Amino acid sequence: MAVQDGLKNRGYERKDVNERFKAVEELTGERLTELTDYTFDPSIASKNIENMIGVTQIPLGFAGPVQINGDLAQGSFIIPLATTEGALVASVSRGMSVITASGGSRVRVFEDAMTRAPILRVDGIDHSVKVIEWISKHTKEIDEVVSSTTNHGQLMDIEAFPNGRNLHLRISFRTGDAMGMNMATIASEAICRLISKETGAVTVSVSGNMCTDKKPASINLIRGRGKHVIAECRVPKDIVEKKLHSTTQAIVELNTRKNLVGSAMAGSMGFNAHAANMVAALYIATGQDPAHVVEGSLCMTTCEDVDGDLYIAVRLPAVDIGTVGGGTRLPSQQAALRMIGCLGDEKARKFGEIVAVTVLAGELSTLGAQAAGQLAEAHKQLGH
Ligand code: NAP
Repeated sequence: MAVQDGLKNRGYERKDVNERFKAVEELTGERLTELTDYTFDPSIASKNIENMIGVTQIPLGFAGPVQINGDLAQGSFIIPLATTEGALVASVSRGMSVITASGGSRVRVFEDAMTRAPILRVDGIDHSVKVIEWISKHTKEIDEVVSSTTNHGQLMDIEAFPNGRNLHLRISFRTGDAMGMNMATIASEAICRLISKETGAVTVSVSGNMCTDKKPASINLIRGRGKHVIAECRVPKDIVEKKLHSTTQAIVELNTRKNLVGSAMAGSMGFNAHAANMVAALYIATGQDPAHVVEGSLCMTTCEDVDGDLYIAVRLPAVDIGTVGGGTRLPSQQAALRMIGCLGDEKARKFGEIVAVTVLAGELSTLGAQAAGQLAEAHKQLGH
């Protein structure tokens, strides 16, 4: 059986995959032919998986069209969503029809930086100070080290968080159109080698968890990671009533009591109704790292009554996405990116805008549904 041993036996010829698949059938005693019905050459996935035996298929639908008024995403889009959760696509589509009827969503990427946060062991406070000073005086050398590892990556900042004999560094990079986690890791390793050589600080790990990758973290909620995006929409009063069967006041009240107060009561870092649903379906469709749904769930939804109209916005501080590299190499994921004009160079920020508007649509639809009925009726009867 051509099972991969570390990186030695890549085994991505179709025959290797088939041989491994048959071995797994034998080992499990199960017929598993549903896994073998795929069309792409397995060698395309050589950087994406080990021990490949087949392909898991996930249904793909579209939501929209939605009018997006971004800095980069401009016009009417239909959005690919891969999910097994019935009603999700329908709900997002309903939100999109409300956004479109309201003139579209204004959306903007505010920050764009991928982070990696090595942990260094130092001798104590004085050693921490020495390392921090060395870093601040040698930015040119550090830049050069980064450039030796990547063409598109660019060092933006190194923040230091000393703590006893621990020195955490949170390093931010521009990563072009790649999500950038491999790129930032490779560049950070090179930076650490240089710092260790020059200061005697010991690199314990290139990731000391202040990045913070794939774990809920306040630092990402506040400072952001990847793309920090905000999408907004002003929904006229009559559209709230006609399309969402609710009222502005009912939705604002629901959002405050549920997404803000309820989330605070629970100690949640996600102040939203279900942002992770939209993030997951769009990430899976387009070949993003699905574990970054954790960061994507750090969304805050705010709603206000503006002269009777509903103002709704989502703030997503950590949209970790790429339009090159990672899972975007795979054919069906590329097709999904092409649906929204987001495959390849110069497209990652545009894609970030689309992610945020998709989340906005899902939030709007779910809040509308939950605020319809009793709550909306109560607001109507009370006349506000
Ligand atoms: P990658 O596929 O490892 O790197 C992107 C590649 O694309 C680089 O070789 C880059 O070249 C090249 N590139 C070509 N055109 C580019 C453009 N316009 N903008 C940016 N780069 C361009 O992807 P990655 O985004 O760094 O890493 C994504 C992968 O990391 C995912 O598969 C994810 O699952 C995985 N991941 C890794 C870690 C980790 O700790 N290593 C953690 C989480 C996830 P240059 O570098 O020469 O510019």
